[in-house]
Amino acid sequence: MTEFPRSNLDPEDWESERHQAHAMLDDLLDYMQNLTERPVWQPIPDSVRHSFQENSPGGGQSLEEIHQRFMKDILPYAVGNAHPGFMGWVHGGGTVVGMLAEMLAGGLNANLGGRDQIPVAVEQQILRWVRAWFRFPETAQGIFTTGTSQGTLMALWVARVARWGERVRQEGVGAHTLRVYAASTVHGSLHKALDLSGLGKKSLHLVALDESGRMDVAALQVQIGEDRQAGLTPFMVVGSAGTVDTGAIDDLAALAVLCRTQSLWFHVDGALGALGCWSAELAPLFQGIEQADSLAFDFHKWGQVPYDAGFLLIREGSLQRQTFSSSARYLAREERGTAAGEDWPCDLGPDLSRGFRALKTWMTVCRYGTERLGAMMAHTCALARFVAEKVSQEASLELMAPVTLNIVCFRYRAEPAQVDALNAQIAIALQESGIAVPSMTLVRGQRVLRLALVNHRTRARDLEALICAVLHLGQRFSTGRIQLS
Ligand SMILES: *Cc1c(COP(=O)(O)O)cnc(C)c1O
Repeated sequence: MTEFPRSNLDPEDWESERHQAHAMLDDLLDYMQNLTERPVWQPIPDSVRHSFQENSPGGGQSLEEIHQRFMKDILPYAVGNAHPGFMGWVHGGGTVVGMLAEMLAGGLNANLGGRDQIPVAVEQQILRWVRAWFRFPETAQGIFTTGTSQGTLMALWVARVARWGERVRQEGVGAHTLRVYAASTVHGSLHKALDLSGLGKKSLHLVALDESGRMDVAALQVQIGEDRQAGLTPFMVVGSAGTVDTGAIDDLAALAVLCRTQSLWFHVDGALGALGCWSAELAPLFQGIEQADSLAFDFHKWGQVPYDAGFLLIREGSLQRQTFSSSARYLAREERGTAAGEDWPCDLGPDLSRGFRALKTWMTVCRYGTERLGAMMAHTCALARFVAEKVSQEASLELMAPVTLNIVCFRYRAEPAQVDALNAQIAIALQESGIAVPSMTLVRGQRVLRLALVNHRTRARDLEALICAVLHLGQRFSTGRIQLS
């Protein structure tokens, strides 16, 4: 018999590997349990950064050594979104069940491209839930995506097929000069999707805002008429169920009506807010979302599912298959056996090999139930109102946008020539202090401190600490004890 060297990558000593695995799990449970004892974020030492610029190892190391390296050089220098003091950008906090689901999915190593397996049925279970949450018809299709950026790009492809039929997959959209409409506050992922889809960023017309910070629907209607007159082809309207800067929600019901009468595709960017429909209190804010032709949203933000987990829902499900199906011979379906089953996710999106994002989503929803998740979301909105109230009580602070959801924009008052730099300085000092991580954005052309209260762990006392630190830093920087750079 021919003897081959050992190539199996399983442990030689299962007992010690098991022991090490348990230690890793304990370390991460400790991390989650004791988050508040850590800084939210900390600057990365050069030595640590450089240590990740080495050549790949020819030989292997023990699991224990790699684990120690993770604890020492990776875990302390993450962005900090698990921490209750993280309020910069729209990031989810993650949960214990989400972490464990990632481990289970990793162990199973399922490939969700297709074939006859229950992991695909779990994804289809989520699709059924998603249809019900957003009151879409039974015929709606959907699929997990990396995030809303990918979902928006895919929605553009589907809308193209809806408009010109499957021949567009052979011929492209030709000489049409397509127009896509969105509020001027729309997320950058739409610009990127227009670029990547080949429609071009110039096809986007940015619509002005009304006084409440939402897309001005009357202005949109006028624009569509003018564009038709000019020989352009109005194609799609993108409404936001929560804009990234201020959390404003477009009048989705009015946009749905307009799109229907104008025969335009109605896409909703629900990355930030759509899952707010889990809360009976918040759901009415999203009235009209149920009429979208396509809805892209994220489980990994407000839904707290670990990264990454986005979802795309398409009202007219057959269009999704028409857009993405292929007939490669090695993907042929059989009546029985492993290659059985009609609904293969590879026919519903651009990917063939796909991870088991459905498991962590399914386990999160099963663990907490939508009522508790909805209550958590409503609580983050209550915290946003709480901090807005605190801001309005402080003479040196100024609220910069109405609070609709879980986002608060404010700034420290200062002379016009200094106010932008001063607030940027405050944001950086806060981040480097480890007390809290806010971020900066632009609201009506002015730089503001933005708190996105997405993390389920954030408490009123974290916000009180943040306001206290902003007041302290603002005073210190504006009295010139530290020169603004
Ligand atoms: C985060 C976000 C996106 C992009 O979603 P990803 O999941 O990061 O790709 C789009 N729109 C809004 C409003 C967002 O907050």
